[in-house]
Amino acid sequence: MKPLFSLLSPAGARARLTVLIFHRVLREPDPLFPDEVDAARFDELLGWVKSWFNVLPLDAAIRQLHEGSLPARAAALSFDDGYADNHDVALPLLRKHGLPCSFFVATGFLDGGRMWNDTLIEAVRLSSLRTLDLRGFVDGRGDDLGQHALGDDAGRRAVLGRLIERVKYLPPEPRQACVDAIAARAEVRPPDDLMMSSEQVRNLHHAGMRIGAHTVSHPILAKLDAQKAADEIGHSREVLQALLGAKVSLFAYPNGKPGTDYLSEVHPALVRELGFDAAVSTRWAAARRDDDVFQIPRFTPWDRGRLKFGLRLARNLLN
Ligand SMILES: [Zn+2]
Repeated sequence: MKPLFSLLSPAGARARLTVLIFHRVLREPDPLFPDEVDAARFDELLGWVKSWFNVLPLDAAIRQLHEGSLPARAAALSFDDGYADNHDVALPLLRKHGLPCSFFVATGFLDGGRMWNDTLIEAVRLSSLRTLDLRGFVDGRGDDLGQHALGDDAGRRAVLGRLIERVKYLPPEPRQACVDAIAARAEVRPPDDLMMSSEQVRNLHHAGMRIGAHTVSHPILAKLDAQKAADEIGHSREVLQALLGAKVSLFAYPNGKPGTDYLSEVHPALVRELGFDAAVSTRWAAARRDDDVFQIPRFTPWDRGRLKFGLRLARNLLN
């Protein structure tokens, strides 16, 4: 694989930067989400990436990309959202492999918070009811959420697939109220330790990892007015800087698809004005020297096998 990556990702002015994106690393595989990365897979995948690439801290890598001084086969690692497993499961594996990583934290969920989708997931996972009766609740189009049989893992996975798609398009406040009501209806108290504590974020920082901002409440920036977007982005940075006593120079757009989740003509300029040095999206590509440093693309192959994983990363270098 290495000669292929050397060819597609040379040093210097024509260098490409591959940035991988992750969200969670589960201790054990989750029957509800069999495709989610677990510890054994992350360990294996870090070994592959280390053998193929020169893995750099993301901030330094973006700086070198811009200067035209990247080494061949440059890569960086990143995590979005701020899950506690980033600290508990991913950090020890990153240290084992001696690899740097950047963690983008949505500060509103620190110390006991939870993202709306996790409230829904844990309600469906943990409920001991046979049927989840959501009659009287409405989705983003105003349709009744109806009744759902809660059977085995496959059944619960199907229920979640349907519910997440329907609840997703509610505005943030009714959506939060809806998932809280669903958890109550499911007779579940969802866990409050899914996301990192402030202490865990500090530990990542002290372990030499980079911490970046990811807004406060993880909104779709494209749907906010400019002031609200600036508050979300700026406030998350202030919270992290106060927590770490250090400058936070990187930002990741929530959900991150240009044109859909953030507006390329609005938000990169806003992020720059707020004092960040660079930002990352979820557009699939490897960055080039002339790319906007406030819209660095990211990509992670989903393949389980070494060859397929590697070939998909190679193909990403052609994007
Ligand atoms: Zn996110």
